[in-house]
Amino acid sequence: MISSFSFVCQACCTNSQARAGVFSTPHGEVETPRFMPVGTLATVKTVTPQQLQATGAQMILANTYHLHLQPGEQIVAGAGGLHKFMAWNGPILTDSGGFQVFSLSELRKITENGVTFRSPRDGRIIELTPEKSIQIQNALGADVIMAFDECPPYPATREDVELATERTYRWLKRCIAAHQRQDQALFGIVQGGVFLDLRQEAAISLTQLDLPGYAIGGVSVGEPPELIEKIVRATAPMLPAEKPRYLMGVGTYREMVQAIAAGVDLFDCVIPTRWARHGTVVVGGERWNLKNAQFREDFTPLDESCDCYTCQNFTRAYLCHLVRTREILAYTLLSIHNITELVRFTQRIREAILRDRFTEEFAQWLAPTASSL
Ligand SMILES: [Zn+2]
Repeated sequence: MISSFSFVCQACCTNSQARAGVFSTPHGEVETPRFMPVGTLATVKTVTPQQLQATGAQMILANTYHLHLQPGEQIVAGAGGLHKFMAWNGPILTDSGGFQVFSLSELRKITENGVTFRSPRDGRIIELTPEKSIQIQNALGADVIMAFDECPPYPATREDVELATERTYRWLKRCIAAHQRQDQALFGIVQGGVFLDLRQEAAISLTQLDLPGYAIGGVSVGEPPELIEKIVRATAPMLPAEKPRYLMGVGTYREMVQAIAAGVDLFDCVIPTRWARHGTVVVGGERWNLKNAQFREDFTPLDESCDCYTCQNFTRAYLCHLVRTREILAYTLLSIHNITELVRFTQRIREAILRDRFTEEFAQWLAPTASSL
């Protein structure tokens, strides 16, 4: 069978492991490295698919845990799948629900079979297993689906992390057996906490399963940023060069640049939309709070150099006014700018890799002393 997925590496950096590539999916291509916005409940909050497309976003994320709780995967499947349901015709990735079960839900009980938890929505008891997660993701119909994994908290003992990592591997094999659709690529997830040898062992055993892509999970769960970099540097190069590599839940400038230098291709993070809802914008690599009085009479564009709809049409004074009066339009306009900014940042990195100028042009973010945005 000819797979509808492929990853082609177009250029490799001579001074780091960074690469520029194209990941092809049934719903189009993703030029890597690329930031992916998060649309938890089948919507990137406050932004229409048309606006989203204009930001330069190519692949987006949706969350299996949230969509299972509401509206339920049968409704999404009844609509013809996620792409039709949310009117986004580009590539979509769903996570497995594992991270949310372990981080959000109460009363969870972990057994070899899976995880039992109480729904925060209506209190009912739900069991999520590797088979169930894949069944839900098969019904949702995203292009890329993720293996159901056990994400240990930080901090955790080596023994606990070892058990979780081994279980993640057994669960991955059950996910592979349960997966029913050829038009969806199942990615495996490397766990192992902050223990680099466990990460590397996990990467080696996952690679032997010859999956269409691999993710590094269980980072950005509260550990210091320098540990994230160490984990990524130890893990990413162990994953096969001819497959896409995805670092889950990371989207700050420094962390993305350092991960790209280690060979990571894809990122997702809720920060552009979450910050927008708090009146925060990213301009020229800095974080600004538009509520601040200094913007009240500032009639210049938000970012002169930005070609997004927000910066082309509105002043800082107007955006400050919308944020202060909590007008809903504020969230849309700030989200459009923030998503454009993060996607553009990864596009600029991609162009620098294609010219083999990455480590020179992004040196400030590669320095050990780089600030976190
Ligand atoms: Zn802008």
